[in-house]
Amino acid sequence: MTEALTAEVAVPVPIDGTLTYLVPADLRDVLEVGMRVVVPLRGKLLTGVVVALGREAPGKRKLKAIREAADERPVITPQLRRLAAWISDYYIAPLGEVLAAMSPPSAGLRRVYSLKAPPTDLEMEIIRASDPADAEVLEILADGRPRGYATLRRRIDVRDLRDRLDHLEKEGYIAHRVEAQKRRSGRVGQAPGDLSGGLAEASRPVLTPSQQAALDGIGPDLDRDSFGVSLLLGVTGSGKTEVYLRLMDRAIKSGKRAIYLVPEIGLTPQIMARVSERFGDRCALLHSRLTKAQRYITWQRILDGEVDVVVGARSAVFAPVENLGIVVVDEEHDTSYKQQESPRYNARDVAIVRAKGAGAVVVLGSATPTIESYHKALEGKYGLYELPERISGGTLPEVRVVDMRSGGASDSFSKEAEEAVRQSVGREEQVLLFLNRRGFSNYVQCRDCGLVPRCRFCYVSLTYHSGRKDLRCHYCGYTERGFEVCPKCGSANILYIGHGTQRVEDYVAEHFPEVTCARFDRDATRRKGSAETLLSDFSEGTVRFLVGTQMIAKGHDFKRVGLVVVVNADVSMNLPDFRAGERTFQILTQVAGRAGRGDIPGKVVIQTFNPEHHSLAYVTGHDFKGFYVEETAMRQELRYPPFARLVRIVVEAPRYASAESAARAVARTASRLGEKAGGKIDVVGPSRAPLSKIKNVYRWHLMIKGDAGANISGLVRKVLRTLPEGDLPERVRINVDVDPQVMI
Ligand code: ADP
Ligand code: ZN
Ligand code: ZN
Repeated sequence: MTEALTAEVAVPVPIDGTLTYLVPADLRDVLEVGMRVVVPLRGKLLTGVVVALGREAPGKRKLKAIREAADERPVITPQLRRLAAWISDYYIAPLGEVLAAMSPPSAGLRRVYSLKAPPTDLEMEIIRASDPADAEVLEILADGRPRGYATLRRRIDVRDLRDRLDHLEKEGYIAHRVEAQKRRSGRVGQAPGDLSGGLAEASRPVLTPSQQAALDGIGPDLDRDSFGVSLLLGVTGSGKTEVYLRLMDRAIKSGKRAIYLVPEIGLTPQIMARVSERFGDRCALLHSRLTKAQRYITWQRILDGEVDVVVGARSAVFAPVENLGIVVVDEEHDTSYKQQESPRYNARDVAIVRAKGAGAVVVLGSATPTIESYHKALEGKYGLYELPERISGGTLPEVRVVDMRSGGASDSFSKEAEEAVRQSVGREEQVLLFLNRRGFSNYVQCRDCGLVPRCRFCYVSLTYHSGRKDLRCHYCGYTERGFEVCPKCGSANILYIGHGTQRVEDYVAEHFPEVTCARFDRDATRRKGSAETLLSDFSEGTVRFLVGTQMIAKGHDFKRVGLVVVVNADVSMNLPDFRAGERTFQILTQVAGRAGRGDIPGKVVIQTFNPEHHSLAYVTGHDFKGFYVEETAMRQELRYPPFARLVRIVVEAPRYASAESAARAVARTASRLGEKAGGKIDVVGPSRAPLSKIKNVYRWHLMIKGDAGANISGLVRKVLRTLPEGDLPERVRINVDVDPQVMI
C-alpha cells in the first residue's frame, strides 16, 4: 500500500504550529518546501507556506487536500525559514503570519483554462438552460484556445466565476494549468539614468580619517565572514552613507550581497540614486508602495541572483538574498522599523538575528542612536565608530530655545521665530516649519510655569480625561484629580492640549504671502509619487517653505535650508511613554540637522512651554552622550530598557467590563507564573490604555517587565497557554507586543 504524500502548511491565522494537508497527484512532483499553496480551512481558501513534506498511511486520518500551488518555485529560502521560526518564537506570532509578512505578492501566477472534453450538443443545451454563465465559459473556450482567468473574468459577469470553473473542471469539461506571468523586460525600482558600470573608483571621495577608521574596523569582519554588529554614530552630513557604500562595495567585491534598510519609503529614491550610481543595475528597491507586479518581479530577480544590493524599508529585511555579507540599518533609532501589527517585529533586531545566522556584518547608523544600542556598544557587544564632524566642515546649526510661557506673537509663533523667518526670507533661504504632531496628546500644562503632571511611580505624563476631569497614568493606573490651579506655581492659566495644530500654513500665507509654501505629511503624500515630486520641488527651490511633521525630519539632504522652526516641541515630551525624553531628543536633533547643510549657516528655533526639559539642553549642545548619561540613570532606577525587557499586552473587547476582567486575568496569571519562575518579573498594571477605545473596542493594557536576560517571551507564551478559559470573556482579543516601541 502506497503512502500518501502530505505537506505541513503554515497558514496566516492565529494558531500554534502548522496544518497537515494531502498533496494532490498533480502537485506531487512539483511541490517543494518554501512554496506557497492555496488550502481550504473552515470553508475558506487561504494561502500558506509549505514548511515540510512528509508521508503517512492513507486513511490514518481524514485530511483535506491542497487546492493548488501559488508559486512555481520556493519563495522562502531555508535561511528565511529559520528566521521566520525565530520571529514566531520571540515575538509570539503565528508562524503563518510571519511567513505571510515575509513573502512577496503572488501576482506572478495566473490560471489558464482550456477545453478538455467538449460537451455533447444535448449536454450543452442542458447547461445553457440551467447555468448560462457555465455555457458562456464553454463557448468561449470552444475554439480550443486557452484563456487566462482574467480574460474570462472580463467577459463573464458573475460573482462566483471561480467556483463555476472549479465545478466545470470537476465535471471533466475543462482543465487549467498555472503558469508564470511573463516577466516584463523593463527593470523596475531603479533610479533614472542607467550607469551600469558604476561610478569610476577614481571619482569617489577620499575618506576622512574617521570614515577610514570605521572602514578599517568593520572591514575585517566582512572579509572573515564573521558576524558582528557595529554602531556608526555620526551627526547628520558626517559621511555615514559613504561608509555604508564602501562597506557594501567591499562585500560585493568578495562575491557577497547587501541589504540596505532605510526607515521611510520617502527616503528610498534619493538613497537608491546614490546606490545605483555606485553599483549600476545590480540593485533593487523593495517596499510596500511598489505595485504587486513590481514587487513580484523584484523578488524573482533577487532569487535569480541578479541583485547585489537591496534597498528598502522595514520588510526588505526579508529579501531572499543569498550569500548575505552586510546589512545596513540607517537611522537605527527610527520607530518605523517596528511593525505595529502582528508579527510585531523590529527590523533592526531581525537584521541582527539574520546576520548572525548568515555570518554577516550589521552596521547600525544614527546621529541619535537608541539608548539600547549605544548601551550595547559601551558594553563592548557592538563595535563603536564615530564621525564627529560634518564633511562640509560646516558648523552644526545654532539652536535657540524660545520660552512660550512669556507669551508669543501669535498662538503658534513667537516674536523670535517670526523675526528669524523674516531674516531667512530676506536672505532668500529656505525654511522648514516642523510640527511635532505624532502621537497622543491629551495632556495638561501650566501656561505660566510649564508644568505637566507626571506619574510619581512611572514618570510618564498623566493623560487628561475631560469626561471625568481626572489625570491618569496609563502604565500603572494611578489617578489623581484634575486641577484648576497649578500645584507648582498657583497659576490658573492651565492649557488643555488636544490634537493638531493646523494653523501654521494659514499663518505663513497671511504673514509671508510672497513665498510658496507646501505641506508634507501623510495626507499630502498618500498618492503614489507625490512625495517624490514635493521633495524634488523643495530641493530645487521652487517651493520655499515646507511645513511638515516627522517625515521632514528624516534624512533629507536639503542644501538651502537656513532655518528650522519647531513650532511645538512639547508634544513628544508629554507622550505617555517612558521613551518620551528620548523621542524628543531624537526628533529635535534630526530636525535641527536639516538646517545649514550646504554652505549657509543654519539656525534652529525651538518653541516650548517647558524650556527646562532635560532633552532640550542636550539638543542645544548637540550632546548625545550627555543625554545618554542622564537618560540611562533614569532608566536604571525605574527598570526600563536596556536594564530590563518589556512585553506589553493589550486586551481588546467590545465590552468595557470584558476588556478589564480579561486584562486582570492576564495580569494575575502572569504574576503567579512569574513568581514561580523565580526570576525578576514585574507586572505593571493593568490599566486602561491611553487610547482606551478604538472603533468601539475597549482597550486595556499591562506591561511585563523582566530582567535583561530573562526569557520573558517564554513566560508570556506560558501565560497565554495557561489562561483559565473561564476567565476570558467572549470576543476578547489579546495582542502581545514584545519590545514595544509605542505605548498608546
Ligand atoms: P550622512 O549619511 O552622515 O548624512 P553623507 O554620507 O550623505 O552623510 O555625506 C554628506 C555629503 O558629503 C554627501 O554629499 C557626500 O557625498 C559627501 N561626502 C561623504 N564623504 C565624503 C568625503 N570623504 N569627502 C568628500 N565628500 C564626502
Ligand atoms: Zn504652574
Ligand atoms: Zn504610573
